[in-house]
Amino acid sequence: MKNNYIQILTETIDTFGHRMQTMVAIEEMSELTKELVKHMRGRDNRDAIAEEIADVEIMLCQLRLMHGIKTTDIDALIAGKINRLKNKLEGKDSG
Ligand SMILES: [Mg+2]
Repeated sequence: MKNNYIQILTETIDTFGHRMQTMVAIEEMSELTKELVKHMRGRDNRDAIAEEIADVEIMLCQLRLMHGIKTTDIDALIAGKINRLKNKLEGKDSG
């Protein structure tokens, strides 16, 4: 996420507080869930899904900031999990 975005999101957390922003994060994840369910039921809602993904990504960034989790730590976890998926696809992982 861009540096000026980080500053705005940090100010948002400072203004509204961890509890409120955690609730907003949960709400946004629920809104994405709802759009995905609508899609599974046959709705053509690509734009709504994109909007909710954007909302969730913004809230995931705030969650990282609130919990002091570095982007590089998340990147390392993602790399490990993607590698595990790769191994699974290649039949090297039994888990
Ligand atoms: Mg939303």
